[in-house]
Amino acid sequence: MNHVDYDVKDDTSNTSDKQKKTDDCDTNIDYKSPSGIQNVKPVKKTQNHQQEKRTKLHDTRQETLGAGNLKEAVRLPKGEDFNEWLAVNCVDFFNEISLLYGCVSEYCTEKSCPMMSAGQKYEYLWMDGVKYTKPHKCSAPEYIDLLMSWVEYQINDSNIFPVDDGKPFPENFRNVVATILKRLFRVYAHIYYHHIDKMTQLVCHVHLNSCFKHFVYFVKQFQLVDEKELAPLANTIKVLMNKDA
Ligand code: ZN
Repeated sequence: MNHVDYDVKDDTSNTSDKQKKTDDCDTNIDYKSPSGIQNVKPVKKTQNHQQEKRTKLHDTRQETLGAGNLKEAVRLPKGEDFNEWLAVNCVDFFNEISLLYGCVSEYCTEKSCPMMSAGQKYEYLWMDGVKYTKPHKCSAPEYIDLLMSWVEYQINDSNIFPVDDGKPFPENFRNVVATILKRLFRVYAHIYYHHIDKMTQLVCHVHLNSCFKHFVYFVKQFQLVDEKELAPLANTIKVLMNKDA
């Protein structure tokens, strides 16, 4: 293990920016205790106008996806609001990763995965700036539970993901989404390194590849996750994207 990576150190090279980014996303949140990964369910849709718009965008996302061209599918649909597009995709990516990890969660245990790693080279320590103010070394299932609960909490916070019509997105919304996606990537990285055999055995690998590919196209299109964050899966990304070249 020669690479330990956690959130205060990995955002930017500028210290004050680093701290700010973490604060933007992580403070002022009344932290909810982890609900357990088994309880992470796709986020419910409410029925107001804002949500209707989002549901429509979600449908557009799925339809464009069906057309097969991911490069096109991730683009902001003409006339749509960028933040709405970020919100819809962020929620969908969260739901997809929840379900994918759910395929192998019973095999991802304290014993099989005593640390949150992506191969030999990368280990992730959890920190949310609220309950965990210092990097917390933990097993993969604990880390993923903390991570998914943290994302779920933010998605359900209407100050961050507004549901009322006309209520604006927070100014730092793009950064919030970038941080969420950066962290969700780590679940993909862990699955690819440590549970790919089980995924293949369960015939979930095809869906895993297509969800991950969509995720990568999206984060690259809007430069939401740094290349260095994506480094653990650089080869997988190359292979998946070369298939489209
Ligand atoms: Zn695991």
